Amino acid sequence: MEQAFLAYLRGRCRHLPQVAVGIGDDAAVINPSDGQLVACTDQIIDGTDFDSRRFELDGHRWADVGFKSIAINLSDMAAMGGKPQAVLVTIALPNENPSRIAGDVYEGILEAAAEYDLAIAGGDISVYDGPLSISVTLLGSVPSGKAWLRSGAQEGDAIFVSGAVGGSLRGRHLRPQPRIQLAKRIRELEICVHAAIDISDGLSLDLDRLCASSGLGAELEAEAIPIHADAIERAQETGCTPWEHAWRDGEDFELILTMNQEDAKQISKIDLGVPLTCIGEIVGRTGMWKRNLGKLERLMPQGYVHGKSTSQATPESS
Ligand SMILES: [Mg+2]
Repeated sequence: MEQAFLAYLRGRCRHLPQVAVGIGDDAAVINPSDGQLVACTDQIIDGTDFDSRRFELDGHRWADVGFKSIAINLSDMAAMGGKPQAVLVTIALPNENPSRIAGDVYEGILEAAAEYDLAIAGGDISVYDGPLSISVTLLGSVPSGKAWLRSGAQEGDAIFVSGAVGGSLRGRHLRPQPRIQLAKRIRELEICVHAAIDISDGLSLDLDRLCASSGLGAELEAEAIPIHADAIERAQETGCTPWEHAWRDGEDFELILTMNQEDAKQISKIDLGVPLTCIGEIVGRTGMWKRNLGKLERLMPQGYVHGKSTSQATPESS
């Protein structure tokens, strides 16, 4: 099916200036961009990252999975402060109905590519005796030496989170909105982001990773964490609090950003199109903390890794 499918795909892909030679040759030729090349890759597999047997129950489609395979990479690109340019998409299809599934998956891939001005520069497609697997490699760029790293946080930085978090399992997780535009806006404003990460495994787990990479800790205003309406609904189903869902649910694909207080003050006055909420401050003491009646209490990271939720322990007292 590969030749016929590639012919179809070539017809469906827009020609974008960042790609000189796209689908159809032995390799893609990408026009170099200013600055440094940023590359990331992510794979999603049926049965591990989603479950096609639940599609009917959940109202999801193969196109959602295609969209998500691109969006999760765009979220990583946004977390680097990068500008996305082109993707390579490798799909391993199950024996049953491969052509129909490939077409449906690509509807979502093409939709994401159109929405984010992304060129589909190439990839591979095969059929095998196993579940659907989509592996996407995304190429983009950042101004030289200006990638946003997890390790760059500084003591005294304000910690921001974009959007609202928690409860993505109610369906939002299959149609994430990677914060590419937000990252672009912040670059244009010449705000100096010290450290950044996207929330894939849970606000607390990913913030903990950023802190650990930077060798620092965080003192949080726990009440300031922006709780998504889905977290409130989810809490009614699970018996956990909305805050607990905001703290530990995964796949929000929002950004955590740190910057000095001066930039924080400036950015708070600007409408970025997406809410940006200050949830605390980077501190020298490692770990995550909140102040309760003047006393510091330790907050333990919890999250969502490879389809499994970690223990649901409540915040531990120091
Ligand atoms: Mg990430």
